[in-house]
Amino acid sequence: MPRIKLTYAQKKCVATVGMLMQKTQMASAGARIGIAVSGGVDSFTLLQVLLIRRRILPFPLELMVLHVNPGFDPQDHAPLVDWCARRGVAAHVEVTDFGPRAHSEENRKGSPCFHCSWMRRKRLFELCGQYGLTHLALGHNTDDLVDTFFMNIFQNGRVDGLSCNEPFFGGKLHVIRPALLVEKSYMKTAARQWKLPIWANVCPSNGVTRRADIHDKIEDCMKVGKGTKNKVFNALKRYQLDLTLQNL
Ligand code: SF4
Repeated sequence: MPRIKLTYAQKKCVATVGMLMQKTQMASAGARIGIAVSGGVDSFTLLQVLLIRRRILPFPLELMVLHVNPGFDPQDHAPLVDWCARRGVAAHVEVTDFGPRAHSEENRKGSPCFHCSWMRRKRLFELCGQYGLTHLALGHNTDDLVDTFFMNIFQNGRVDGLSCNEPFFGGKLHVIRPALLVEKSYMKTAARQWKLPIWANVCPSNGVTRRADIHDKIEDCMKVGKGTKNKVFNALKRYQLDLTLQNL
């Protein structure tokens, strides 16, 4: 890949991901990282950032794209396949029926997103086992951390954010969130500047979930004072980082 000068937003993404990965010892020599790429801004930007970080790291690291299409449009991942092929990035792409099933009689009680995400997560774990991957990287960012933190308080009555680095199966697999300290606004700008071929999620539940609703309310609350949003974001970033460092 040719070396191209990075913009401010792109540098911010690359540097913040690098800082978190280093501070929390997210990956070491020989790590085989599967990146769950949905086709949205967050995961596609994470993929681009990890490809850049791999060039900077002093040790070898393997990266592989995992795309589990929820089944509303079985062709929409074509730009990702092409993008990976042009860069020589290994990818597993499969079309499932998880999205339609989550909206069917099979799932009469739960929310479609909960059911669909659960099936996709299960499949991603299976793929990690199948390919001998040591890490599964998810594209969550600071905005997701803030939403999750408040959703857990409002809905579940507990104080809990999103872990940066979580072991599964006795430590055989680590679920990592390298972009957790990056704000979505930087990821969106960086993705646009990199011209990443992001596509829209055509699922009927996209944007009309309880999470989306709570997100809008939190955004409104953070308008109460100048700089409130920054303060909330910084407080939760520090909280989550400290928690991860304590548990290392
Ligand atoms: S928005 Fe649709 S595709 Fe995304 S998790 Fe929810 S049900 Fe699945």
